[in-house]
Amino acid sequence: MKHVSHWIGGKPWDGEAERHGDVYDPATGQVTGQVDFAGPAEVDLAVAAARDAFRTWRRVSLAKRATTLFAFRELARDHATELAKLITEEHGKVASDAAGEVARGLEVVEFACGIPHLLKGGYSENVSTNVDSYSIRQPVGVVAGITPFNFPAMVPMWMFPLAIACGNSFVLKPSEKDPSASLLIASLWAEAGLPDGVFNVIQGDKVAVDAILQHQDIAAVSFVGSTPIARYVYENGTRAGKRVQALGGAKNHMVVLPDADLDLAADAAVSAGFGSAGERCMAISAVVAVDPIGDELIAKIKDRVANLRVGPGTDERSEMGPLVTGPHRDRVASYLDSGVREGATLAVDGRVHPVIGGEPGGFWLGPSVLDHVTPQMSCYTDEIFGPVLSVLRAPSYEEAVDLVNSNPAGNGTAVFTNDGGAARRFVSEAEIGMVGVNVPIPVPMAYYSFGGWKASLFGDTHVHGTEGIHFYTRGKVVTSRWLDPSHGGVNLGFPVNT
Ligand code: NAD
Repeated sequence: MKHVSHWIGGKPWDGEAERHGDVYDPATGQVTGQVDFAGPAEVDLAVAAARDAFRTWRRVSLAKRATTLFAFRELARDHATELAKLITEEHGKVASDAAGEVARGLEVVEFACGIPHLLKGGYSENVSTNVDSYSIRQPVGVVAGITPFNFPAMVPMWMFPLAIACGNSFVLKPSEKDPSASLLIASLWAEAGLPDGVFNVIQGDKVAVDAILQHQDIAAVSFVGSTPIARYVYENGTRAGKRVQALGGAKNHMVVLPDADLDLAADAAVSAGFGSAGERCMAISAVVAVDPIGDELIAKIKDRVANLRVGPGTDERSEMGPLVTGPHRDRVASYLDSGVREGATLAVDGRVHPVIGGEPGGFWLGPSVLDHVTPQMSCYTDEIFGPVLSVLRAPSYEEAVDLVNSNPAGNGTAVFTNDGGAARRFVSEAEIGMVGVNVPIPVPMAYYSFGGWKASLFGDTHVHGTEGIHFYTRGKVVTSRWLDPSHGGVNLGFPVNT
């Protein structure tokens, strides 16, 4: 049984936790370890270490910060397979998917290596006679990151590389379901030469989150998780005076127009619906087939789903692993019954899909497709976050776009078409933060910013890219005049240019 604990002040915490949680191997259903749950006292310790470290880290030169980031990047790349293995063991996703998540996270580290360039300000000479102005961006202080189970490496990597590069210190509270990746990351930072206390990890649940939200020495909180908790974190964090960006859940629609290449669309729907067992915030969960192609599209989707290989993430043959926990698997499966009860057709029942090499206790659910779903059904109104694809039929382009825009979530969407004009119109009309054209999972690169609209984001700053730099810094504008012979004497008037 492994024991997973906190990382505070550059080393593992050696205290005794009062509360613990179980960590599972989702492919067997067995408990493989215990994770310590922090109370306010451990959060205090981590924040105190971060606050101390911030005093010196914020003064470290940009050149030295970039060197430390480069060192971390090299180490993380060298340990990428180990990191991916930890993710598969606790999350269940297949090895290639775990490796992909690490690679995408590393892209943000690589972006952050350019911090000397990213923090450049502006300078204007002679804004008034002999007066110059320039803008700088300074770190905000101690920053916390609270992250979900579905990307235990990538989502934290959306946050801490830029926060640290900008001169902040960081306290990460990862998901209690797959906590180990965070500790490997912490040890790599130490090896890279990051001063003790700049990166800390606090394991735990709501108690740790509440202590973070109330802590007066935490200046900003980045959160990624479900919509109700994102709203809670945003409301409580901002009430306590913090800067908060809270990314929530999703219901991503893929609109297939009648002129689309239906083989391409079916490949995309299956890849984006069932990759990582649908446990991605950018997974496609609703396919909107615009008349008259619904029957043809669903036949192509069914053919592909039948051939998906479900099995343990550690087995090279597997394309899709188990779900993260037993209760989550049961909740996802419940939508198959409720969907049918409410009038949908169960086109593919994942409960009878074969599992290759899987142990019976694993949290298995094969890929499922519900057809003739309507907007009132709970399988449509709820975020299922599992391998269930809902297919809706829309009589026209306009009704498809209405469906997308009426949904409270606004994370991602995609349109499949060969008509450039229709695609352009969709891009303009979709009230969604990230839009794909013949690309089903339009996750922005590290140098753009990632984030949704509406109930998928509380706050107004997206993560990474320029918006990430802005979130982790405060702007300051300096106006300076160096003594010159033209002393004007006392002047109580408002400074204006004459
Ligand atoms: P979650 O909201 O249950 O948990 C997220 C974090 O909040 C975890 O660290 C957890 O410990 C903490 N938490 C859980 N319950 C809490 C409570 N009552 N009070 C305070 N803190 C609490 O989310 P999850 O199940 O880990 O992850 C899946 C969700 O995350 C999905 O809704 C998915 O769409 C969303 N997600 C969104 C994005 C995005 O970019 N918008 C990315 C990844 C995941």
